[in-house]
Amino acid sequence: VRAPLRRVIRELPDELISQIAAGEVVERPASVVRELVDNALDAGATQISLKLQAGGIRSIVVEDDGAGIPVEELPLALRRHATSKIGSLDDLEHVATMGFRGEALAAISSVAEMAIASRTSQDAHASRLDARSGELSPSARAVGTSVEVRELFFNTPARRKFLKSESTELAHCVDAVRRHALARPDVSFAVWHEGKLVEQWRAASSQQRVKDVLGSDFEAASRELLLERGPMRVFGRAGLPEASRSRADMQYVYVNGRFVRDKLIAHGIRSAYEDVLHGNRQPAYVLFIDIAPELVDVNVHPTKIEVRFRDGREVHQQVRHAVTQALALSRAPAAESLAP
Ligand code: ADP
Ligand code: MG
Repeated sequence: VRAPLRRVIRELPDELISQIAAGEVVERPASVVRELVDNALDAGATQISLKLQAGGIRSIVVEDDGAGIPVEELPLALRRHATSKIGSLDDLEHVATMGFRGEALAAISSVAEMAIASRTSQDAHASRLDARSGELSPSARAVGTSVEVRELFFNTPARRKFLKSESTELAHCVDAVRRHALARPDVSFAVWHEGKLVEQWRAASSQQRVKDVLGSDFEAASRELLLERGPMRVFGRAGLPEASRSRADMQYVYVNGRFVRDKLIAHGIRSAYEDVLHGNRQPAYVLFIDIAPELVDVNVHPTKIEVRFRDGREVHQQVRHAVTQALALSRAPAAESLAP
């Protein structure tokens, strides 16, 4: 017979609460990259540069030329549930920014060493806040923000053990930037690792950005897709059968500019390929859905990688239709071109 176990109920210390919450958001260096680039984009950055060391495990520095954070708000930026992006339930239901939970910086600073240096156009100079000591000091940089994250999971060794090799973590970090880069061709991105430039995408047209990020082979073997209906717009590029792959590693889906994984959308796309792809071939595609924000719930998962649609069937149908149309146009050599 087990001895009855009775322990008193206690409130957890703040630091432990943060570390538990951080577990949901920060899984690996790439999660930090994703959150920091989200923040830079929300701040209106046009140039974002990332400097990584040891696959991002030792250090991640993200610099942007966005609006910056006023010095008096710097300490607040690190607090849990503190955000400049929403203030009410109504805001939440119409959210148009990547962030809104006010969790990322708090989460990251609870599992890594962190510092933020920022300067707004109103400031004579930048200020730097060290997260651990709370020390605020004058610093030098142009208008914008730099966030430095060092020694990820130094204080949560169990988490640290789950990290893979530096090269694998680096690949995930680059992939995180790639996802943003596809969605924001108007923004320039540069990724450095150990002092070497590993990727650079300069601001370009969306077609050029697809070429730069996914390669000209994919661009040549894909067709533009575009379908507008009511509050929904589906656009992007659908790979032709010859662009298909043995792995599902070139499938990018975005809802209102945010990279998501969605079974319903994936199924809609897949069903459009039914007649043209066989066996285990995986289609390649970049598909964006822009939809009225009130028709989609983005607050489903802490990492916001899942969404829920008000009318999933309609989304499924339109996605399928858009892809089918793009593929069909490519197969029937344009009727107009035969006309006199
Ligand atoms: P969220 O993005 O959900 O608001 P974060 O913890 O990621 O929460 O950021 C907290 C706040 O700090 C943001 O709401 C924003 O005001 C500010 N902030 C964070 N990163 C930046 C940045 N790169 N540029 C300007 N402001 C930033
Ligand atoms: Mg954020």
